[in-house]
Amino acid sequence: MKLICMGRNYAAHIHELANEKPDEPVVFIKPDSSILPKEQDFYIPEFSNEIHYEVEVLVKIKKVGKHIDEKFAHKYYDEIGLGIDFTARDLQSALKAKGLPWEKAKGFDGSAVIGNWFPIENFEDLSDINFSLLKNTEVVQKGNTSLMLWNIDALIAYVSRFFMLKKGDIIFTGTPAGVGKIKANDYLSGFIEDQEAFTVKIK
Ligand code: ZN
Repeated sequence: MKLICMGRNYAAHIHELANEKPDEPVVFIKPDSSILPKEQDFYIPEFSNEIHYEVEVLVKIKKVGKHIDEKFAHKYYDEIGLGIDFTARDLQSALKAKGLPWEKAKGFDGSAVIGNWFPIENFEDLSDINFSLLKNTEVVQKGNTSLMLWNIDALIAYVSRFFMLKKGDIIFTGTPAGVGKIKANDYLSGFIEDQEAFTVKIK
């Protein structure tokens, strides 16, 4: 399985990293080895001094599809969740400056936190879901899916033009503003509406 991730899908986050607003979704892939095993602590890797959290709404693909029409995209998922796209920002900035691919900064071991899954029937409107990330006791990121530049169905339609979606693939839909650095002993917890989706201890 693969993790298909969106960059720059929330205007306020594009602004905070001084990136340009894209004409099309920015897409990258994390390998399955990047998934942090459940209940496992996240260890800050030795190659970075600036690991950022990025909380994101996740979509679990339930069947194979390619070239999916946006109006049929809803048939490809029935669960959403919340996770973290850990990013070695220092490494990413250095690679970006050289025009090189970011994989090492985004796809390293443990960089993908995948929380609990929730049936979509639990939510009244998928384009109005509140979610947040707490670092220790402070709310550091707060988002709402209405602020996405491309919504879930549009993302599925877009990425399936390039990558065949398979059962179990997960889409990371991008992070809202408020990304920041973690340090040892931090404790992160993610909430989708008022339900806790994950907790991670930083080592
Ligand atoms: Zn991200």
